[in-house]
Amino acid sequence: MDDGTLTEPLLVAHLDLDAFFAQVEELAKPSIRGRPVVVAGRGGRGVITTANYPARRFGVHSAMPSWQGRALAPHAVWLSPRGTAYSEHSTAALAPIRATFSRVEQVAYDEVYVDLSSARTPDELAALDPDDGPDPALAVHGVAWVADPYAACTALRQAVWDATGLTASVGVARHKLGAKLASESSKPAGAAVLDAAAEAELLPTLEAKALPGIGPVSARKLAGAGIRTVADVRAAGEPTVVGLLGQAHGTAVWDLAHGRDTRRVEYDRERKSVGAERTLPADLRDLESLRATHAAVFAEAHRRLLRSGAAARTVTVKVRYADFTIETRAASLAAPTDEEPALRAAAEHALAATSAPGTGVRLVGVAFSALDTVAQLLLSLGDEAAAELVPELAPAATPGFHPAYARDASTAADPRLGAGPADGPGPLVTEQSAPGSDVVHDELGRGWLVGAGHGVASVRFETSTSPPARSATVRLADGVLRHCDPEPPRPAAGPAPWKA
Ligand SMILES: [Mg+2]
Repeated sequence: MDDGTLTEPLLVAHLDLDAFFAQVEELAKPSIRGRPVVVAGRGGRGVITTANYPARRFGVHSAMPSWQGRALAPHAVWLSPRGTAYSEHSTAALAPIRATFSRVEQVAYDEVYVDLSSARTPDELAALDPDDGPDPALAVHGVAWVADPYAACTALRQAVWDATGLTASVGVARHKLGAKLASESSKPAGAAVLDAAAEAELLPTLEAKALPGIGPVSARKLAGAGIRTVADVRAAGEPTVVGLLGQAHGTAVWDLAHGRDTRRVEYDRERKSVGAERTLPADLRDLESLRATHAAVFAEAHRRLLRSGAAARTVTVKVRYADFTIETRAASLAAPTDEEPALRAAAEHALAATSAPGTGVRLVGVAFSALDTVAQLLLSLGDEAAAELVPELAPAATPGFHPAYARDASTAADPRLGAGPADGPGPLVTEQSAPGSDVVHDELGRGWLVGAGHGVASVRFETSTSPPARSATVRLADGVLRHCDPEPPRPAAGPAPWKA
């Protein structure tokens, strides 16, 4: 029985997809591969979510305001985030890891910690239900995960590549801090083991802000006292550090500066969330049928919750409207429960807080969660809003952040979310459509929007598996260009770069 206790020696892997959003864009768009690519929110307050390595050479980096990045790299390919594509690629990339190990902590779309001592036994693999959790067929076999840490690094990196064609960097060490330092030092597409001796050598040379928990505010406080590196932290002495940062924080930083990291891999004991959603054959326009559908989706979600054995504190309702905007509303209870009446009341409360049925509803979803952070909640929902939200909140978990906050960003209109074949054709491309959107033309097929204005759209008609395309011009008034769903993730077509 797994009681959550970590076995010793603690051996942790940190896996981080390299420039993740930009990599997904390069996969989907052959003509931009190898060029500087920046994924950024639009508008005056837009922020860069990811810059690929060629773009970083111009000084562009994530969290920088878009206007500033544009001044540095005006010639880069500037794209709006495609949340659905990132969510699907994240799921696919991490699927082999979730299948192989029982203790996996996801800290962002593109980043996990893995307790390498938690590889599933054949019996545990046989007990997995692929319809309701990791798919045992994806598990990686034949690696001595604990005995051979370097083999562990390379096997994880290879599994991600095989599943998606994405590169990741992997580090292994005796704790999370070391594992993260190792993966960072090996970026991009690297694999590195940081043993105790190497860690003892590396740690003092790092800037203090490399330590977890040292954000800009703490870094300023330390710098005010002349403390800039980890060596400075050590030289300052514990009383000084505690005096600057407070007792709990100061002690934690003091320990980390000496390579003492007791943070566990906070794996999902069951699943981060359980839920159900339903795409409707025809848009729902009246409140009565909306409520009936919501009740049915709630019942299915609740059945899954009971089967998972979990209790939930937060209920989130997701509605996708006929115009492809998405709205999520969450309601939280005082304590986790699996009791139907309380959860149903919360779900009804959340539904009532939406604008549904509004102009018509095409999808209703209900999810239960006991999570502390909106980032993880949205991750587990696969919510398109996560792509916009997570970078703003700093991608790692933001402690104490209430999921109900999800309402603010996720209600924004999102015409990028096209329709799949089951949903029928997506909305027409307009001058407001976001650059980078997936589009489909009546005759020319699938492509992506370079930009639109003056009554025309510039489109590259290419797919992840086609040759690069030049841009073509389409008149918007012809009504032949529509939004569509992103291509799903697909296994790597060729050898990984580290094999070339
Ligand atoms: Mg990353």
